[in-house]
Amino acid sequence: MNELAQNHCHSVRRRLLRGALTSAKVSSRFSGKGSWPMSEAMSSPAPRRQQLSVNDYVAGIRAGDRTILARAITLVESDSRRHEAQAQEVLQHLLPFTGRAKRVGITGVPGVGKSTFIEFLGCLLVERGQKLAVLTIDPTSSRSGGSILGDKTRMERLCQLPAAFIRPTPSGLSLGGVARRTRETMLLCEAAGFDTILVETVGVGQTEIALRALVDFFLLLLLPGSGDELQGIKKGIVEMADLVAINKADGENKLRAELAKQDQAAALHYLQPATSEWPTEVVLCAGLTGEGLPEIWQRVEKFYRELEPKGVIARRRREQSLAWLSDLIHDELKRRFYRDARVKSHLSAMQQAVLRGEITAVLAAESLLATHQECHSGSTGPEK
Ligand code: GDP
Repeated sequence: MNELAQNHCHSVRRRLLRGALTSAKVSSRFSGKGSWPMSEAMSSPAPRRQQLSVNDYVAGIRAGDRTILARAITLVESDSRRHEAQAQEVLQHLLPFTGRAKRVGITGVPGVGKSTFIEFLGCLLVERGQKLAVLTIDPTSSRSGGSILGDKTRMERLCQLPAAFIRPTPSGLSLGGVARRTRETMLLCEAAGFDTILVETVGVGQTEIALRALVDFFLLLLLPGSGDELQGIKKGIVEMADLVAINKADGENKLRAELAKQDQAAALHYLQPATSEWPTEVVLCAGLTGEGLPEIWQRVEKFYRELEPKGVIARRRREQSLAWLSDLIHDELKRRFYRDARVKSHLSAMQQAVLRGEITAVLAAESLLATHQECHSGSTGPEK
C-alpha cells in the first residue's frame, strides 16, 4: 500500500471511530422515540448501544423491527457526515421496498384539531388492520420535550397500539432539512411494511408547501367560521388541498361549520384543483367524536382507487422525485458557494459596492460566481 493509501486508511479509521462515538451518543439521546409507551421512553437511561452495520439496518427494517427502524430514523436525522453516508447506503438498499404506502399529508393551524383527528383516524385504520406510521412536523416545538413529549401525550391511545408508529421529525432544522428527514423517514417506514403514512404539519406557511411535495393526498383542516384571516391560513394553501375538511363541526359549531363549508366550496369553485383529475371538495367532520372521519378516509381510498390505475399518483411521485433531486443539487451548490473561502473574502466588499451603487447586482453576482468557478475549475480542470 502506498503512503497516500495508508494515510487515507488511517483517516477513514479515525473518522469511523469518531463516528461510532457520535453514533452511540445520538442513539442514546433519541432512544425510545418510536411508538413505545411513554414510561419506556422516559425510564432509566438507555444502555450503551451496539453499532449496527448497513446489513443489520436493512434486515431489521425489512423484518419490521421497530427498535431498528427507530435507530435508522435517528441515523437519517443525524448531522454527522459518516451517519449520512451510512443512512444513504441503508436507503439505497431499501429503495426497492419503498413506495407501496398511501402517503397522506394533513395540515391546519395550531388548535384546529389535527392530533385529535389523527388519533381517531389512526385508531380506526389500525382497527381495520392497517399498519400506520404518523410523522409529525412541528417547526415551532423544541426537540427537548416539546415535540416528543407533546406528541406522545397528544396521541395517547394511538401510541399504545402496536400497529401504529409515531415519530416527530426533529425541529430546529431548516425547511430543506425537515423535508429531507421526513421524506427519508417515510421511505424507511414504507420499507418496514407500513401501508399508510400520515404526515402532519402545523400550517404556518412554508412547511405545507414542503409537505405537499412529499405526499400523494393532501388534507387541509379548517375551523368553523369563514374568511382566510379568521382561519389564520395563508393564501394558496387551499389550492394545494385534495380535500378540505371543516373540523369541530359539532355542537354549537354546526351552523358556523356549514357556513364555512359553503364559503370554502365557493372559493374552490374558482381555483384549479390540486390534482387535475380530482375535484377538491369540502366536507364537515369532528375529530373529537369521529363524525365524518370514516367518510373522509373513504374519499382517500377513492382517490387511490380512481387515480392509481390512471398513473396519476405515479406521475406525481416521479415529479416529486425530480423536484427533490433538483432541490438537493441547488442546496448543495449554494452551500459550496457560500463556504468557498474566496467568495467569503469578496462577498462583503461586493455587497457594499452594490449598496453604494458602484456596481449592479448582476455584475456583482457574476463576479462572485466567476471567483467561485475559478477556484473550482482549478481543481477539476477547465470546463468543456
Ligand atoms: P392541533 O393543535 O391542531 O393538533 O389541535 P388539537 O388536536 O390539540 O386540538 C385542540 C383543541 O381542540 C383541544 O382542546 C381539543 O380537545 C379540541 N378539539 C379537537 N377536535 C375537536 C372537535 O372535533 N370538536 C371540538 N369541539 N373540539 C375539538
